[in-house]
Amino acid sequence: MKTKLTELLGIEHPVIQGGMQWVGKAELASAVSEAGGLGILTALTQPSPGDLVKEIRRMRAMTRKPFGVNLTLLPTLKPVPYGDYVDVMISEKIKIVETAGRSPEEFMPRLLEAGIKVIHKCTSVRHALKAQKIGCAAASVDGFECAGHPGEDDIPGLVLLPLAVDALSIPVIASGGFGDGRGLAAALCLGAEGINMGTRFLATREAPIHENVKKALVDADERQSALILRTLKNTARIYKNSVAKDILAMESRGNITIEELSPLVSGARGRTVYENGDIEAGVWSAGMVAGLIRDIPSVRDLITRIVKDAETIIKGRLHTMIS
Ligand code: NAD
Repeated sequence: MKTKLTELLGIEHPVIQGGMQWVGKAELASAVSEAGGLGILTALTQPSPGDLVKEIRRMRAMTRKPFGVNLTLLPTLKPVPYGDYVDVMISEKIKIVETAGRSPEEFMPRLLEAGIKVIHKCTSVRHALKAQKIGCAAASVDGFECAGHPGEDDIPGLVLLPLAVDALSIPVIASGGFGDGRGLAAALCLGAEGINMGTRFLATREAPIHENVKKALVDADERQSALILRTLKNTARIYKNSVAKDILAMESRGNITIEELSPLVSGARGRTVYENGDIEAGVWSAGMVAGLIRDIPSVRDLITRIVKDAETIIKGRLHTMIS
């Protein structure tokens, strides 16, 4: 497939593995890039900017194909030296950066001066328009189905994506709820130039996480996610486990603070789920697309299947419907 996105990024298939906290490491990202998609390292998964340097170099030893680095700008329990992570991206000559969470405006002059293509992941048309205005090369538009932070508007992709395509002149990447060839074909029909996936890439052989998490996604249905932190206007969609239910019970009592919730929502605690495989040990991100995940293929098999199935739908089913 050739789309504005494959042209912009110099990739073979219009499939991106977006930033995934604790998971977006070189093992997964290099497998995606090697399979012809765009793999993305997640900067904040590295404990310090110095560790990000090492991870970028590890990545370069594993692939020579294009890849990106994600920088998520959201409230955190501990302060994050975002500027220092940006310094690393520039000094390591990264070519593609995915930002998310809030506007990357303060970092744009330096990123653009370094010739970096910025993809901003956002959850509304107004935020995508702002991204275009400040010089982003593409907008990854995240529908309400997505894992992680879907924003507060609750507009699913079927409405949000065509609205974004109508409003923007830069390429739109469809994100949230994508996991198979039908999704890719649908995204292209809606006017997007490719898809971004997170949850679907969790259930792959190369994802550097415990097998229990992958199996939990295969077992999950589409109702197995929960929206936490809504009362703090920082909504996050996560796998619905006992910790998620405890958080929701606390939030339903009203007037809850992040300090009271932090022992439960802490990302450091959630990280142990991926390491030890106890899916009840903390919070971990998963989207509604879990309902569509039925196997744990290699990244290459997954991407090949998605592209082939989308091509079959476009050339076959859609084409033959025209009388
Ligand atoms: P963390 O442990 O610092 O925080 C845990 C959760 O609490 C996060 O969702 C965070 O946004 C939220 N939070 C922290 N302080 C808050 C406050 N003052 N008000 C409201 N909410 C608050 O985060 P982490 O797990 O170490 O993750 C680091 C960063 O990556 C965070 O910005 C997090 O939101 C982000 N993240 C993104 C995704 C994604 O899918 N894009 C997934 C997981 C985490």
